[in-house]
Amino acid sequence: MVELDDLLAQVWPLAASNTPGTDTVNLNAALGRVVVGDVFSQLNVPQHDNSGMDGYAVRCADLAKGVQFAVSQRVPAGASPLPLQAGTVARIFTGAPIPPGADAVVMQEDASVLANGLVTFNAVPTPNQWIRRAGEDIACGQVVVPKGTVLDAVHVGLLASIGVDRVDVVKRLKVGVMVTGSELQNPGKALEPGQIYNSNEFVWCGFLKAMNIDVESVGIVPDNIEATCSALERLAECDAVVSSGGVSVGEEDHVKPAIERMGELRAWKVAMKPGKPIAFGHINRKGGGQSWFFGLPGNPVSSALAFQLIVKPFLGLLQGQSMGQVDWRLRMHPVKADFAWAKPDMSREEFLRVDVQSGCAGLFPNQSSGVLTSLAQSSGLVRLAKGQVVAPGDVLNYVSYQDLMK
Ligand code: AMP
Ligand code: MG
Repeated sequence: MVELDDLLAQVWPLAASNTPGTDTVNLNAALGRVVVGDVFSQLNVPQHDNSGMDGYAVRCADLAKGVQFAVSQRVPAGASPLPLQAGTVARIFTGAPIPPGADAVVMQEDASVLANGLVTFNAVPTPNQWIRRAGEDIACGQVVVPKGTVLDAVHVGLLASIGVDRVDVVKRLKVGVMVTGSELQNPGKALEPGQIYNSNEFVWCGFLKAMNIDVESVGIVPDNIEATCSALERLAECDAVVSSGGVSVGEEDHVKPAIERMGELRAWKVAMKPGKPIAFGHINRKGGGQSWFFGLPGNPVSSALAFQLIVKPFLGLLQGQSMGQVDWRLRMHPVKADFAWAKPDMSREEFLRVDVQSGCAGLFPNQSSGVLTSLAQSSGLVRLAKGQVVAPGDVLNYVSYQDLMK
Protein backbone atom coordinates (compact mmCIF):
# COMPACT_ATOMS: atom_id res chain seq x y z
CA MET A 1 0.00 0.00 0.00
CA VAL A 2 1.10 3.56 -0.67
CA GLU A 3 0.41 6.54 1.61
CA LEU A 4 -1.78 9.25 0.06
CA ASP A 5 0.88 11.94 0.67
CA ASP A 6 3.52 9.79 -1.09
CA LEU A 7 1.21 9.20 -4.04
CA LEU A 8 0.52 12.95 -4.36
CA ALA A 9 4.27 13.67 -4.18
CA GLN A 10 4.83 11.27 -7.09
CA VAL A 11 1.91 12.21 -9.30
CA TRP A 12 1.28 15.97 -8.95
CA PRO A 13 4.79 17.14 -10.01
CA LEU A 14 4.29 15.38 -13.36
CA ALA A 15 1.46 17.81 -14.14
CA ALA A 16 3.42 20.83 -12.90
CA SER A 17 6.11 20.17 -15.52
CA ASN A 18 3.51 20.34 -18.28
CA THR A 19 3.56 23.47 -20.47
CA PRO A 20 0.02 24.33 -21.43
CA GLY A 21 -0.83 26.12 -24.67
CA THR A 22 -2.26 29.63 -24.72
CA ASP A 23 -5.51 31.21 -25.92
CA THR A 24 -6.23 34.92 -26.12
CA VAL A 25 -9.82 35.64 -25.13
CA ASN A 26 -12.09 38.66 -24.81
CA LEU A 27 -13.05 39.70 -21.30
CA ASN A 28 -16.57 38.39 -21.81
CA ALA A 29 -15.13 34.89 -22.32
CA ALA A 30 -12.50 35.11 -19.57
CA LEU A 31 -14.51 33.99 -16.53
CA GLY A 32 -13.02 30.83 -14.96
CA ARG A 33 -9.97 30.79 -17.22
CA VAL A 34 -6.41 30.72 -15.85
CA VAL A 35 -4.12 33.63 -16.76
CA VAL A 36 -0.83 32.63 -18.36
CA GLY A 37 1.38 35.44 -17.05
CA ASP A 38 1.29 38.39 -14.63
CA VAL A 39 -0.98 41.14 -15.97
CA PHE A 40 0.53 44.60 -15.32
CA SER A 41 -1.34 47.89 -15.30
CA GLN A 42 -0.25 50.47 -17.87
CA LEU A 43 -2.06 53.22 -15.99
CA ASN A 44 -3.00 54.63 -12.61
CA VAL A 45 -6.46 53.84 -11.28
CA PRO A 46 -7.95 56.30 -10.70
CA GLN A 47 -6.19 58.31 -13.40
CA HIS A 48 -6.63 61.63 -11.58
CA ASP A 49 -7.12 62.85 -8.04
CA ASN A 50 -10.91 63.00 -7.82
CA SER A 51 -13.70 63.81 -5.44
CA GLY A 52 -15.19 61.17 -3.17
CA MET A 53 -18.29 63.30 -2.51
CA ASP A 54 -20.70 65.77 -4.02
CA GLY A 55 -19.66 69.12 -2.50
CA TYR A 56 -17.02 71.82 -2.87
CA ALA A 57 -13.34 71.59 -3.73
CA VAL A 58 -11.48 74.03 -1.50
CA ARG A 59 -8.10 75.25 -0.41
CA CYS A 60 -7.91 74.50 3.34
CA ALA A 61 -5.74 77.56 4.05
CA ASP A 62 -8.46 79.86 2.57
CA LEU A 63 -11.20 78.28 4.65
CA ALA A 64 -9.28 78.88 7.85
CA LYS A 65 -9.39 82.61 7.08
CA GLY A 66 -12.53 83.36 5.12
CA VAL A 67 -16.22 83.04 5.86
CA GLN A 68 -18.07 83.32 2.53
CA PHE A 69 -16.79 82.06 -0.81
CA ALA A 70 -17.61 82.60 -4.42
CA VAL A 71 -18.04 79.48 -6.55
CA SER A 72 -15.53 80.04 -9.35
CA GLN A 73 -16.23 76.88 -11.43
CA ARG A 74 -18.47 73.83 -11.62
CA VAL A 75 -16.76 70.44 -12.11
CA PRO A 76 -18.99 67.48 -12.95
CA ALA A 77 -17.56 63.96 -13.46
CA GLY A 78 -15.79 63.79 -16.80
CA ALA A 79 -14.89 67.51 -16.82
CA SER A 80 -11.37 68.93 -17.03
CA PRO A 81 -11.12 71.60 -14.32
CA LEU A 82 -9.15 74.84 -14.31
CA PRO A 83 -6.79 75.68 -11.43
CA LEU A 84 -8.75 76.82 -8.37
CA GLN A 85 -8.68 80.65 -8.04
CA ALA A 86 -7.38 81.76 -4.64
CA GLY A 87 -10.16 82.69 -2.21
CA THR A 88 -12.84 80.78 -4.12
CA VAL A 89 -14.23 77.26 -4.09
CA ALA A 90 -15.34 74.92 -6.91
CA ARG A 91 -18.66 73.10 -7.02
CA ILE A 92 -17.66 69.46 -7.53
CA PHE A 93 -19.34 66.06 -7.89
CA THR A 94 -18.34 62.51 -7.02
CA GLY A 95 -15.66 61.18 -9.37
CA ALA A 96 -14.85 64.58 -10.88
CA PRO A 97 -11.15 65.56 -11.11
CA ILE A 98 -9.88 67.83 -8.33
CA PRO A 99 -8.97 71.30 -9.68
CA PRO A 100 -5.22 71.97 -9.38
CA GLY A 101 -4.61 73.94 -6.18
CA ALA A 102 -7.54 72.47 -4.22
CA ASP A 103 -6.50 70.24 -1.34
CA ALA A 104 -9.80 69.03 0.16
CA VAL A 105 -13.47 68.51 -0.59
CA VAL A 106 -16.23 69.61 1.78
CA MET A 107 -19.36 67.52 1.37
CA GLN A 108 -22.45 69.48 0.37
CA GLU A 109 -24.19 68.53 3.63
CA ASP A 110 -21.60 70.71 5.44
CA ALA A 111 -22.13 73.71 3.13
CA SER A 112 -24.88 76.35 2.81
CA VAL A 113 -25.58 78.38 -0.31
CA LEU A 114 -26.57 81.96 0.60
CA ALA A 115 -29.16 84.07 -1.24
CA ASN A 116 -26.31 85.99 -2.88
CA GLY A 117 -24.87 82.75 -4.33
CA LEU A 118 -21.89 82.67 -1.97
CA VAL A 119 -21.16 79.56 0.05
CA THR A 120 -20.38 79.13 3.75
CA PHE A 121 -19.09 76.02 5.49
CA ASN A 122 -19.95 74.77 8.95
CA ALA A 123 -16.86 72.55 9.24
CA VAL A 124 -13.18 73.27 8.59
CA PRO A 125 -11.82 70.50 6.38
CA THR A 126 -8.55 68.69 6.94
CA PRO A 127 -6.18 68.52 3.96
CA ASN A 128 -6.88 65.55 1.60
CA GLN A 129 -10.40 65.11 2.98
CA TRP A 130 -12.67 63.33 0.44
CA ILE A 131 -9.95 63.29 -2.20
CA ARG A 132 -9.31 59.93 -3.88
CA ARG A 133 -5.71 60.05 -5.02
CA ALA A 134 -4.51 59.03 -8.48
CA GLY A 135 -3.18 55.46 -8.38
CA GLU A 136 -4.58 54.70 -4.90
CA ASP A 137 -6.43 51.65 -6.29
CA ILE A 138 -3.84 50.52 -8.84
CA ALA A 139 -0.47 52.13 -9.52
CA CYS A 140 0.97 52.16 -13.03
CA GLY A 141 3.32 49.17 -13.39
CA GLN A 142 1.66 47.17 -10.62
CA VAL A 143 0.69 43.50 -11.14
CA VAL A 144 -3.10 43.47 -11.11
CA VAL A 145 -3.72 39.77 -11.71
CA PRO A 146 -0.86 37.35 -11.01
CA LYS A 147 0.03 34.39 -13.23
CA GLY A 148 -2.07 31.31 -12.47
CA THR A 149 -5.11 33.24 -11.21
CA VAL A 150 -8.42 31.57 -11.97
CA LEU A 151 -10.35 34.61 -13.16
CA ASP A 152 -13.50 35.34 -11.16
CA ALA A 153 -15.98 38.15 -11.78
CA VAL A 154 -13.93 40.65 -9.75
CA HIS A 155 -10.68 39.79 -11.56
CA VAL A 156 -12.40 40.33 -14.89
CA GLY A 157 -13.66 43.69 -13.58
CA LEU A 158 -10.11 44.59 -12.48
CA LEU A 159 -8.83 43.91 -15.99
CA ALA A 160 -11.60 46.11 -17.37
CA SER A 161 -10.63 48.86 -14.89
CA ILE A 162 -7.16 49.04 -16.45
CA GLY A 163 -8.57 49.13 -19.96
CA VAL A 164 -7.56 45.58 -20.90
CA ASP A 165 -10.07 43.92 -23.23
CA ARG A 166 -8.19 40.72 -24.11
CA VAL A 167 -6.22 38.41 -21.88
CA ASP A 168 -3.87 35.46 -22.43
CA VAL A 169 -5.20 32.35 -20.72
CA VAL A 170 -4.28 28.69 -20.61
CA LYS A 171 -5.86 26.62 -23.38
CA ARG A 172 -9.01 24.86 -22.19
CA LEU A 173 -8.31 21.33 -21.10
CA LYS A 174 -10.41 18.49 -22.45
CA VAL A 175 -10.95 15.55 -20.14
CA GLY A 176 -12.38 12.21 -21.18
CA VAL A 177 -14.77 10.38 -18.87
CA MET A 178 -15.83 6.74 -18.88
CA VAL A 179 -17.63 4.67 -16.26
CA THR A 180 -17.16 0.92 -16.37
CA GLY A 181 -19.62 -1.64 -15.07
CA SER A 182 -22.04 -4.04 -16.76
CA GLU A 183 -24.45 -3.36 -13.88
CA LEU A 184 -24.82 0.31 -14.76
CA GLN A 185 -27.90 1.90 -16.27
CA ASN A 186 -28.47 5.54 -17.15
CA PRO A 187 -31.11 7.62 -15.38
CA GLY A 188 -34.29 7.86 -17.42
CA LYS A 189 -34.24 4.13 -18.25
CA ALA A 190 -35.94 1.41 -16.17
CA LEU A 191 -33.62 -0.70 -14.01
CA GLU A 192 -33.34 -4.37 -14.97
CA PRO A 193 -32.77 -6.80 -12.12
CA GLY A 194 -29.27 -6.36 -10.70
CA GLN A 195 -28.73 -2.97 -12.31
CA ILE A 196 -27.91 0.31 -10.54
CA TYR A 197 -27.97 3.83 -11.85
CA ASN A 198 -24.76 5.42 -13.05
CA SER A 199 -24.12 8.46 -10.86
CA ASN A 200 -20.31 8.81 -11.01
CA GLU A 201 -20.35 10.22 -14.51
CA PHE A 202 -22.66 13.04 -13.42
CA VAL A 203 -20.63 13.88 -10.33
CA TRP A 204 -17.38 14.07 -12.28
CA CYS A 205 -18.83 15.95 -15.23
CA GLY A 206 -20.13 18.53 -12.73
CA PHE A 207 -16.72 18.86 -11.06
CA LEU A 208 -15.02 19.22 -14.44
CA LYS A 209 -17.46 21.82 -15.75
CA ALA A 210 -16.99 23.82 -12.54
CA MET A 211 -13.26 23.85 -13.41
CA ASN A 212 -14.01 25.23 -16.88
CA ILE A 213 -12.81 22.02 -18.47
CA ASP A 214 -14.37 20.59 -21.62
CA VAL A 215 -15.71 17.09 -21.08
CA GLU A 216 -15.91 14.25 -23.55
CA SER A 217 -17.82 11.34 -22.03
CA VAL A 218 -18.32 7.92 -23.57
CA GLY A 219 -20.65 7.04 -20.69
CA ILE A 220 -21.13 3.45 -19.59
CA VAL A 221 -18.61 0.86 -20.76
CA PRO A 222 -19.47 -2.81 -20.13
CA ASP A 223 -17.02 -5.02 -18.28
CA ASN A 224 -15.05 -6.53 -21.16
CA ILE A 225 -11.59 -5.80 -22.47
CA GLU A 226 -12.59 -4.96 -26.06
CA ALA A 227 -15.20 -2.38 -25.08
CA THR A 228 -12.76 -0.92 -22.55
CA CYS A 229 -9.95 -0.62 -25.12
CA SER A 230 -12.14 0.95 -27.77
CA ALA A 231 -13.52 3.53 -25.27
CA LEU A 232 -9.97 4.40 -24.22
CA GLU A 233 -8.92 4.74 -27.85
CA ARG A 234 -11.73 7.24 -28.45
CA LEU A 235 -10.77 9.25 -25.38
CA ALA A 236 -7.00 9.20 -25.94
CA GLU A 237 -7.13 12.53 -27.83
CA CYS A 238 -8.14 14.25 -24.56
CA ASP A 239 -5.54 15.83 -22.27
CA ALA A 240 -6.51 13.38 -19.55
CA VAL A 241 -8.96 10.51 -19.07
CA VAL A 242 -10.78 9.60 -15.88
CA SER A 243 -12.43 6.21 -15.54
CA SER A 244 -14.47 4.73 -12.71
CA GLY A 245 -14.63 1.11 -11.61
CA GLY A 246 -12.76 -1.90 -12.80
CA VAL A 247 -9.41 -1.11 -11.17
CA SER A 248 -9.49 -3.85 -8.54
CA VAL A 249 -8.01 -7.23 -9.34
CA GLY A 250 -11.31 -9.07 -9.88
CA GLU A 251 -12.01 -11.10 -13.02
CA GLU A 252 -14.40 -8.38 -14.18
CA ASP A 253 -11.86 -5.58 -13.74
CA HIS A 254 -10.60 -4.82 -17.24
CA VAL A 255 -9.29 -1.27 -16.96
CA LYS A 256 -5.79 -2.20 -15.82
CA PRO A 257 -5.12 -4.78 -18.54
CA ALA A 258 -6.58 -2.40 -21.15
CA ILE A 259 -4.23 0.43 -20.18
CA GLU A 260 -1.31 -1.95 -20.01
CA ARG A 261 -2.10 -2.86 -23.60
CA MET A 262 -2.45 0.75 -24.75
CA GLY A 263 0.01 2.66 -22.61
CA GLU A 264 1.60 2.47 -19.22
CA LEU A 265 0.09 2.15 -15.80
CA ARG A 266 0.94 2.17 -12.15
CA ALA A 267 -1.68 0.87 -9.81
CA TRP A 268 -1.72 1.42 -6.11
CA LYS A 269 -3.61 0.38 -3.10
CA VAL A 270 -3.75 3.76 -1.44
CA ALA A 271 -3.76 3.64 2.35
CA MET A 272 -6.87 5.79 2.58
CA LYS A 273 -10.48 5.14 3.35
CA PRO A 274 -12.68 5.51 1.42
CA GLY A 275 -11.07 4.79 -1.94
CA LYS A 276 -8.41 2.12 -1.94
CA PRO A 277 -7.56 1.07 -5.51
CA ILE A 278 -6.29 3.84 -7.76
CA ALA A 279 -4.48 3.58 -11.08
CA PHE A 280 -2.45 6.26 -12.82
CA GLY A 281 -0.59 6.27 -16.09
CA HIS A 282 -0.99 7.30 -19.71
CA ILE A 283 -2.61 6.12 -22.91
CA ASN A 284 -0.63 6.35 -26.13
CA ARG A 285 -2.44 8.10 -28.97
CA LYS A 286 -2.44 6.37 -32.34
CA GLY A 287 -0.97 9.41 -34.07
CA GLY A 288 1.64 10.04 -31.34
CA GLY A 289 1.46 11.83 -28.03
CA GLN A 290 -0.26 10.63 -24.92
CA SER A 291 -3.10 11.31 -22.55
CA TRP A 292 -2.88 11.15 -18.75
CA PHE A 293 -5.01 8.41 -17.24
CA PHE A 294 -6.66 8.05 -13.82
CA GLY A 295 -8.55 4.90 -12.88
CA LEU A 296 -10.64 5.53 -9.78
CA PRO A 297 -12.80 3.22 -7.66
CA GLY A 298 -16.43 2.69 -8.65
CA ASN A 299 -18.02 3.32 -5.28
CA PRO A 300 -19.64 6.75 -5.52
CA VAL A 301 -18.05 8.31 -2.43
CA SER A 302 -14.61 6.82 -3.11
CA SER A 303 -14.82 8.00 -6.68
CA ALA A 304 -15.90 11.56 -5.80
CA LEU A 305 -13.26 11.92 -3.08
CA ALA A 306 -10.44 10.41 -5.13
CA PHE A 307 -11.40 12.88 -7.83
CA GLN A 308 -11.32 15.86 -5.45
CA LEU A 309 -8.25 14.85 -3.48
CA ILE A 310 -6.04 13.48 -6.26
CA VAL A 311 -7.29 14.25 -9.77
CA LYS A 312 -8.68 17.76 -9.45
CA PRO A 313 -5.40 19.26 -8.15
CA PHE A 314 -3.55 17.45 -10.97
CA LEU A 315 -5.87 19.00 -13.55
CA GLY A 316 -5.46 22.39 -11.84
CA LEU A 317 -1.69 22.06 -12.28
CA LEU A 318 -2.17 21.08 -15.95
CA GLN A 319 -4.23 24.27 -16.26
CA GLY A 320 -1.27 26.32 -15.08
CA GLN A 321 -2.21 26.78 -11.43
CA SER A 322 0.53 26.61 -8.81
CA MET A 323 1.07 23.89 -6.23
CA GLY A 324 0.06 26.41 -3.54
CA GLN A 325 -3.27 27.01 -5.28
CA VAL A 326 -4.23 23.37 -5.77
CA ASP A 327 -2.98 21.69 -2.60
CA TRP A 328 -6.08 21.29 -0.41
CA ARG A 329 -3.87 20.25 2.52
CA LEU A 330 -2.88 23.91 2.85
CA ARG A 331 -6.54 24.84 3.34
CA MET A 332 -7.17 22.47 6.25
CA HIS A 333 -7.98 24.01 9.60
CA PRO A 334 -8.81 22.78 13.09
CA VAL A 335 -12.35 21.96 14.19
CA LYS A 336 -13.66 20.44 17.39
CA ALA A 337 -15.14 16.93 17.25
CA ASP A 338 -18.74 16.66 18.40
CA PHE A 339 -18.60 12.87 18.13
CA ALA A 340 -16.67 9.79 19.13
CA TRP A 341 -14.88 7.46 16.69
CA ALA A 342 -13.81 4.37 18.53
CA LYS A 343 -13.13 1.85 15.73
CA PRO A 344 -10.34 3.33 13.67
CA ASP A 345 -8.77 1.65 10.66
CA MET A 346 -5.32 0.46 11.71
CA SER A 347 -3.81 0.29 8.21
CA ARG A 348 -5.35 3.28 6.40
CA GLU A 349 -5.94 6.94 7.13
CA GLU A 350 -9.59 7.92 7.06
CA PHE A 351 -11.56 10.81 5.64
CA LEU A 352 -14.77 11.17 7.61
CA ARG A 353 -17.68 13.15 6.25
CA VAL A 354 -18.74 15.70 8.83
CA ASP A 355 -20.98 18.71 9.08
CA VAL A 356 -19.26 21.70 10.68
CA GLN A 357 -21.38 24.33 12.40
CA SER A 358 -19.71 27.10 14.43
CA GLY A 359 -16.39 25.22 14.48
CA CYS A 360 -17.93 21.96 15.77
CA ALA A 361 -17.90 18.84 13.59
CA GLY A 362 -20.85 16.46 13.71
CA LEU A 363 -20.37 13.02 12.15
CA PHE A 364 -22.56 11.91 9.24
CA PRO A 365 -24.07 8.66 10.60
CA ASN A 366 -23.33 6.43 7.59
CA GLN A 367 -19.66 6.52 6.51
CA SER A 368 -19.99 3.79 3.87
CA SER A 369 -18.16 4.50 0.61
CA GLY A 370 -21.33 3.78 -1.34
CA VAL A 371 -23.55 6.37 0.31
CA LEU A 372 -23.66 9.46 -1.87
CA THR A 373 -26.07 11.23 0.50
CA SER A 374 -23.15 11.42 2.94
CA LEU A 375 -21.47 13.93 0.59
CA ALA A 376 -24.66 15.87 -0.05
CA GLN A 377 -25.54 16.20 3.64
CA SER A 378 -22.15 17.11 5.11
CA SER A 379 -19.92 20.17 4.74
CA GLY A 380 -16.46 18.61 4.43
CA LEU A 381 -13.92 16.06 5.57
CA VAL A 382 -11.84 15.46 8.66
CA ARG A 383 -8.60 13.61 8.05
CA LEU A 384 -7.71 10.97 10.63
CA ALA A 385 -4.33 9.28 10.82
CA LYS A 386 -4.11 5.48 10.84
CA GLY A 387 -5.45 4.12 14.08
CA GLN A 388 -6.66 7.53 15.31
CA VAL A 389 -9.56 7.37 17.74
CA VAL A 390 -11.69 10.42 18.38
CA ALA A 391 -13.30 11.55 21.62
CA PRO A 392 -15.74 14.46 21.82
CA GLY A 393 -13.78 17.72 22.11
CA ASP A 394 -10.72 16.47 20.20
CA VAL A 395 -9.28 18.92 17.70
CA LEU A 396 -9.32 17.51 14.15
CA ASN A 397 -7.96 18.62 10.80
CA TYR A 398 -10.82 19.70 8.50
CA VAL A 399 -11.24 20.78 4.89
CA SER A 400 -14.58 22.00 3.58
CA TYR A 401 -15.96 20.83 0.22
CA GLN A 402 -16.03 24.50 -0.71
CA ASP A 403 -12.27 24.75 -0.15
CA LEU A 404 -11.70 21.47 -1.98
CA MET A 405 -13.49 22.91 -5.01
CA LYS A 406 -11.29 26.05 -5.12
P1 AMP B 1 -15.98 -1.45 -8.92
O1 AMP B 1 -14.92 -0.47 -8.50
O2 AMP B 1 -16.17 -1.54 -10.39
O3 AMP B 1 -15.77 -2.78 -8.26
O4 AMP B 1 -17.35 -0.87 -8.33
C1 AMP B 1 -17.55 -0.71 -6.94
C2 AMP B 1 -18.99 -0.36 -6.61
O5 AMP B 1 -19.31 0.91 -7.19
C3 AMP B 1 -20.02 -1.31 -7.13
O6 AMP B 1 -21.03 -1.46 -6.16
C4 AMP B 1 -20.55 -0.63 -8.35
O7 AMP B 1 -21.85 -1.04 -8.68
C5 AMP B 1 -20.50 0.82 -7.96
N1 AMP B 1 -20.36 1.67 -9.16
C6 AMP B 1 -19.46 1.47 -10.13
N2 AMP B 1 -19.58 2.42 -11.09
C7 AMP B 1 -20.58 3.23 -10.70
C8 AMP B 1 -21.18 4.40 -11.27
N3 AMP B 1 -20.79 4.90 -12.44
N4 AMP B 1 -22.17 5.01 -10.58
C9 AMP B 1 -22.57 4.51 -9.40
N5 AMP B 1 -22.05 3.41 -8.80
C10 AMP B 1 -21.06 2.77 -9.44
MG1 MG C 1 -17.14 -2.71 -11.70
